[in-house]
Amino acid sequence: MDYKQCSRCIMDTTDEHIYFNENGICNHCIRFEESQKTKWFPNKEGEKKLKNLFNLIKNEGKNKEYDCILGLSGGLDSSYVAILAKKYGLRPLVFHVDAGWNSELAVYNIEKVIEYCNYDLVTHIMDWNEIKDLQRAYIKSGVANQDVVQDHSFVSILYHYANKHRIKYVLNGSNIATESVFPSSWHHDAMDSINLKAIHKKYGEIKLKHFKPISFFQYYFWYPIIKKMTVLNPLNLVYYNPEEVKEFLMKNIGYKPYGRKHGESGFTKFFQNYFLVEKFGYDKRKLHLSSMILSNLITRDEAIEELKKPLYDELELIQDKAFVAKKLGFSVEELDSFISQDNGHYSDFANWDSRYKLLKKLQHFITNYTSIKINTYYKKI
Ligand SMILES: [Zn+2]
Repeated sequence: MDYKQCSRCIMDTTDEHIYFNENGICNHCIRFEESQKTKWFPNKEGEKKLKNLFNLIKNEGKNKEYDCILGLSGGLDSSYVAILAKKYGLRPLVFHVDAGWNSELAVYNIEKVIEYCNYDLVTHIMDWNEIKDLQRAYIKSGVANQDVVQDHSFVSILYHYANKHRIKYVLNGSNIATESVFPSSWHHDAMDSINLKAIHKKYGEIKLKHFKPISFFQYYFWYPIIKKMTVLNPLNLVYYNPEEVKEFLMKNIGYKPYGRKHGESGFTKFFQNYFLVEKFGYDKRKLHLSSMILSNLITRDEAIEELKKPLYDELELIQDKAFVAKKLGFSVEELDSFISQDNGHYSDFANWDSRYKLLKKLQHFITNYTSIKINTYYKKI
């Protein structure tokens, strides 16, 4: 396909599945208007919904030590969810998963949020040798989504922990305002444990004793249907402007901003700002900025200007690359060779696609015959 960019957002043909209508507007913009906008309430209506939702959580959790659980990364999104929970009087257990890549600043910001909210914090430290082995396997496989190991760990440990402590509600920092555009061609789902195990089986060097992936059955049936675990995205019920929230957090709790997107994880920063662009031509700023255009946080011209800025300062890149290589036990030359080798694809390995298709068919069937809409995990608001 010749290069083409959407006339409304800044997504382009680097998303190989993108398509455009007769006005040059892409499928992401159309999807936003048709479905996502209906789940997004940055207004008075949202405030009311948020209050109702939080009241429900408070009532259900009255006699429990905690009424919900919140995964805190030290990034802006989850930090702001913690502040909102505090504002409305929730009693979350705050959970942090340390996969070995926390920046000092992330640790500092987590402390500041906890201090301000006066919440209990549980930090789960992953077995570094296992995380390292998994991440080395992913680098060798050459697949696009190198963040699977961290992302999968965060979710699986949080869910297992919440379930063990009978906590039903999970507060999450995902949001439509800054993350509505997300092309599936760029990333395979991080929750696909079949894929994760297959990649590790081929390239891993040690046996995983502590790493407990979340299975397809657990993820789609056991937790949401049997255990009634519910994931809530409170940021979709408020006006969420990251710049304003950053100012607020800096002024009120002493939060220190990260210079670069995902500065809270040394790996994610390198992966998103270098690896993904260099190896696949995927610049994730396009997703973020396009989402912000759609939610009216910035104009298209501002997004285009922002995209012109360099992804990395040259010296910082050299330092970060050396850091990532050393931590993963590669030489810089080895890491470079993995980046320049042929790209891998998740479908080169066993994966959950056929099960997922079957699940969707089943959901469709049930919806058609019973009018019950099954949307596991996410509470209808
Ligand atoms: Zn678009």
